[in-house]
Amino acid sequence: MRIGMGYDVHRLIEGRPLILGGISIPYEKGLLGHSDADVVIHAIMDALLGAASLGDIGKHFPDTDPAYRGISSLALLQNVGTLLRENNFTVGNIDATIVAQRPKLSPYREQMTEQIANTLGISQNRVSIKATTEEGLGFTGTGEGISAYAVCLLEEIAAPV
Ligand code: MG
Repeated sequence: MRIGMGYDVHRLIEGRPLILGGISIPYEKGLLGHSDADVVIHAIMDALLGAASLGDIGKHFPDTDPAYRGISSLALLQNVGTLLRENNFTVGNIDATIVAQRPKLSPYREQMTEQIANTLGISQNRVSIKATTEEGLGFTGTGEGISAYAVCLLEEIAAPV
């Protein structure tokens, strides 16, 4: 078994949709980024790639590449899933925490875990998404941005003899 961790931050601005965990969430602001800026999926991808020693999302999906402009992070996550299978890894579990003062995210947790599990082709009970505020402190507390942490375990599949 191999452990991985990921962390990401994106700035909240007006005029962008808020996409978290592959779900569009009604809010007055959205996250700024080259892709759809789905901060929790970015953290999860870095955890998965890290556990597999396959680099990070900047290496695989550089934000200077026009191919990834506005792309759904679910599409990138699907690519990471394929990469893991090619390298004989299967996902044990993923646990992520989104840090956001607003909006309230608990109503969307179930949909997020479903999207992520389906995209990776794993059962939903292997994915956990949690949300917390930072009690008004720091850049998440003032609503300047949203951050996300993720950890995962990968299991190595024995290569066919
Ligand atoms: Mg990011």
